[in-house]
Amino acid sequence: MECYDVAVVGAGPAGAMAARTAARAGASTVVLEEHRSVGFPVQCAGLLGVKALEEADLPSGSWRMGSLRGATVHSPGGCLLSFKARSVRAWTVDRRLFDRAMALEAVRAGAELWLRASVRSRRFDGQSLLELGDGRTVRATVVISAEGVKARTARLAGIAPPEIMLSGAQVEVPFSIQDREMVEVHLGAGGARGLFGWVIPCGDGSARVGLCARENACRHLRKFLASPSISRRMKGSPLNLNLGGLPLGPPRSTVAPGILAVGDAAGQVKPTSGGGVYPGLVCARIAGEVAAAAAVERDCSESRLSEYEERWRLAIGRELSLGMRLNRALCSMTDGDMDELVNHLASREDLIHSIEVLGDIDRPSVLAARLIPRLGAGGLRMAGILGRAFLK
Ligand SMILES: Cc1cc2nc3c(=O)[nH]c(=O)nc-3n(C[C@H](O)[C@H](O)[C@H](O)COP(=O)(O)OP(=O)(O)OC[C@H]3O[C@@H](n4cnc5c(N)ncnc54)[C@H](O)[C@@H]3O)c2cc1C
Repeated sequence: MECYDVAVVGAGPAGAMAARTAARAGASTVVLEEHRSVGFPVQCAGLLGVKALEEADLPSGSWRMGSLRGATVHSPGGCLLSFKARSVRAWTVDRRLFDRAMALEAVRAGAELWLRASVRSRRFDGQSLLELGDGRTVRATVVISAEGVKARTARLAGIAPPEIMLSGAQVEVPFSIQDREMVEVHLGAGGARGLFGWVIPCGDGSARVGLCARENACRHLRKFLASPSISRRMKGSPLNLNLGGLPLGPPRSTVAPGILAVGDAAGQVKPTSGGGVYPGLVCARIAGEVAAAAAVERDCSESRLSEYEERWRLAIGRELSLGMRLNRALCSMTDGDMDELVNHLASREDLIHSIEVLGDIDRPSVLAARLIPRLGAGGLRMAGILGRAFLK
């Protein structure tokens, strides 16, 4: 049986960052990945803000596909709001290559990576004994569950699931794009509530077209693809279909004796955009540091590991809880409300300027705090709906 200070379950971006950090801190570290290659299957639109890439801290590589500076927001009734910043605000990435680059950094830092290593169960007797699907066992002082939405090991340890599980669906399809530096956000896409629909240019004449919904994203996606604003720009059949869950709202505790949960496993996803890579990386870095220190001290008690809980909540907890309120406000809006909001914002040069200057998909609360009080008389009802959600 192999023994490690830290065992990370899952080689997604959160797992790779946690392992890289723990290994750099001197902990013997193993990453257990159930698939036979890292980064597959892709369950992501691959849009990462500049802060996410700073946090990933990777050498440049072919995972970076194209830069983005702005967005056009489409309301259900066809009102449009466009804004474009002077500088690059986000990147489209090839998630398969991005995850591979993240895993490479973890291995370079000294972590071992085991492929086809599916963790089936965990027993805890002061240390964790992980049993793999093929009968192998791994002993570790601290386990980091970075398993994504299923998070079997975390749930078995009593770490609760996230508050809400959205369903996401996306196709890559040949598409007519006007501006390769702009994404499209479609509110109420395909009649769905939960988040929004998107069109993300891939830079090669295709686009990623998808949406997230409270339930049955595939059914809503079919409707979205058939809508006139999308169907007339599709230039052929979809090349692939990408499905996945999106966990919103972290559980009350992300720590249990001998184990902590990061990334999707802990519901660390931005409720305003569905982006999980940035918050996952921020929290995984903290998880790696705490796990390595706890392992060196041979103290994997829940109270020792709760340092992770305190630090990640300090770093992004407020952003995630404000995001949940904004998400609920968006879900409570009728199509008419969304038309009214987009129409009002589009008529206000000052607000568009603020969005261009302050817009940050990784920290949307900064912009929301600035915009909501300034919606003014014309947007009074909207200010009420959003403000109530924001200030509650
Ligand atoms: C349709 C869709 C679009 C999205 N678009 C974006 C976007 O544009 N930008 C963004 O930031 N986020 C996006 N997300 C969210 C993002 O993909 C996730 O938040 C992110 O991948 C979470 O990273 P993670 O490392 O926590 O988990 P994952 O990336 O899910 O990695 C978990 C890993 O654990 C492995 N694993 C699971 N169970 C076990 C086990 N028992 N044993 C061993 N290995 C195991 C899995 O194989 C996987 O490799 C999107 C999600 C969906 C569904």
